[in-house]
Amino acid sequence: MCIFCDIISGEKKADIVYQDEKIIAFRDINPKAPVHILIVPRKHIFSINNLERKDLSLVSEMIWQAKEIAKSAGVQDGYKLVINNGIRGGQVVPHLHLHLLGGFNL
Ligand code: 5GP
Ligand code: ZN
Repeated sequence: MCIFCDIISGEKKADIVYQDEKIIAFRDINPKAPVHILIVPRKHIFSINNLERKDLSLVSEMIWQAKEIAKSAGVQDGYKLVINNGIRGGQVVPHLHLHLLGGFNL
């Protein structure tokens, strides 16, 4: 269906840092911060605009795992969570994902 679906199915390789039955998280191939991890629902949902109420718990899971992954990546003291939405919102990959960005040098 899309490049992230290919990673989810195992067809395309990625540096996976966490996975469970609902969510997969892997390192961004072109990191914009020292720690840049993408948290992705296994279900192909295009964007926030395509979210249905029945999928709302997936978004909570994504945020919960972002917090856990930030801890294991050692950036729990400060990180950004970003969801780009739509082409004009900077979304390139058409599969909902949460960017975890951390490790900034202030
Ligand atoms: P978006 O701009 O859609 O919010 O973010 C897509 C992100 O996916 C970008 O930061 C880009 O570097 C990353 N990305 C695109 N293709 C791949 C890939 O094949 N593997 C991995 N690990 N990241 C990818
Ligand atoms: Zn997909």
